[in-house]
Amino acid sequence: MKIKKCPYCKNNIRLHEIKFPYVNDYGGIVVKCSECDKVSFSNVKNPAESSISLGGIKIDTWDREVIKNEDFLLEYPDILEMDAGVLVIGDYKAREYNFDFSAANIYYCKSCKKEVETTSKDCLDINSETISSSYKNLMNFILANDGWARDNLVIEVNCECACGQKFTSFWHQNYILDGNPLDYDKLFLIGTDMPLSSNDIDGIMSKNNCIKTLEKFIIRWNAIFSRLLIVTPFIGHQWMSQIEVIELWDWIKNYVDPNKSTLVTRTATFNKYKKACEEKGISLELLEDFGISNALITEFTRKQDFHAKIYVGYSKSNSEILLGSFNLMNGPSMENISLKHSDYHQFLNKFISPMNINISEPNEIEKNWSHIYQDENNEWKTDDIKSEKILSRLLNY
Ligand SMILES: [Zn+2]
Ligand SMILES: [Zn+2]
Repeated sequence: MKIKKCPYCKNNIRLHEIKFPYVNDYGGIVVKCSECDKVSFSNVKNPAESSISLGGIKIDTWDREVIKNEDFLLEYPDILEMDAGVLVIGDYKAREYNFDFSAANIYYCKSCKKEVETTSKDCLDINSETISSSYKNLMNFILANDGWARDNLVIEVNCECACGQKFTSFWHQNYILDGNPLDYDKLFLIGTDMPLSSNDIDGIMSKNNCIKTLEKFIIRWNAIFSRLLIVTPFIGHQWMSQIEVIELWDWIKNYVDPNKSTLVTRTATFNKYKKACEEKGISLELLEDFGISNALITEFTRKQDFHAKIYVGYSKSNSEILLGSFNLMNGPSMENISLKHSDYHQFLNKFISPMNINISEPNEIEKNWSHIYQDENNEWKTDDIKSEKILSRLLNY
C-alpha cells in the first residue's frame, strides 16, 4: 500500500498497486478526493487492477501503451499530481498473539488446584475436526442468509481434568465473515466456568512470568471487557538498547487493542521511545501525519508523579486488576503480582481518582455473539447467544 496526499486538501489517499510477476502495464489513475471532491492523478503500475481503499474514489485510468500521459491528462484541465507519499509494507494493523500454554498459568482446576490450560488445549485439539466443520456450517449459513453478522465468536469445549472434575473452556475469536476455514492460531483461551481465583495467581514470580501472566489476561480482557488500562511509570529500563525499547513498545502495541486501551506513563518513558524511533529512522510524527500511527501511542496519558503499576480490564459493571511491582519488560528479577476483581465504581474510587487521571467510559460489549457448543448429548451445535450469558460464567471468582 502507498499512502499519498490529495494535492489540494492533504487528505490521505490509500493506493493499492498490483505487481505481476512477469508483464506489467504502466499508466495512471485519476482519483476524486473524498474530503474536497477535487480530482488528482498518480502514475501507477497496472492501473486497471490498482485500487483505492480509503480517502478517495478511482474514477478513471489510462495505459501508457495506448495513450501518452500528457495526451490523456488533457481531458482533465488543471489536474494536479498527488503529493508523494509513503510506502507501507505488510499489514501495519496485524496483531499476533501467543497464548503460551507452557508458562505462568492463570486457569486452574477448582478441585485438584492443578492448571487446566493444557487440558483445555488437548480437548480443543481432540474436537478440532468437528469444531472446524461446525464453524464452516455456521459461516456458510450466515453468509447465505444474510444472517447475524457478529464481531465475536465463542466456542465452548467440554473438558475433564485428570482428577475427574468436569468443566467448560471458552475460546474466543474476533469473528470475520470471510468464508475462510477456522484458523486455530486466531482462537484464544479466555477462561473456564470454574472460579478465577486470586489464590492461584498471587505470589512472587520472575518478571518474565509476570509478563506471561499479563499476556494471558490481556487476551482475556480484549475479548470480555470493553476497555483496558495500563498504568506503568517505566517501559523498559534506562540501560536498554534502542532496539530493545522499540521491541518492548511493539510488544505492547501488539497485545493491547489500540482502539479500546489507555496507556498512562511518564513523559520521559515516552520520549525515550520516540528518540529511539527517530534514531532508527522511524518518525512517529510521519506515521501520525499519514494516518497510520497507533492510537495507544498518540493518545497516551502523561503523568509524572507516580510509581504505581496496575493493569486493568474493565466494563460498566466489572473490572479485573493485576497489581504488581513489575514494569513492562522481561527479566529474571523476582516481582510480586496479585489479581483483584471489583465493580467499576470501586475501581474508579480506589484506583483512578487518587491518580487524578481521566479514563474512557466503557462501551457496552456486543450484545450477541456467535456461538459453537456441545449439547447434553455431546452433539456440536451453533447458535447466537447473549454475550452476558457467557460473561456471567467467565466472571466467576
Ligand atoms: Zn482533497
Ligand atoms: Zn482437577
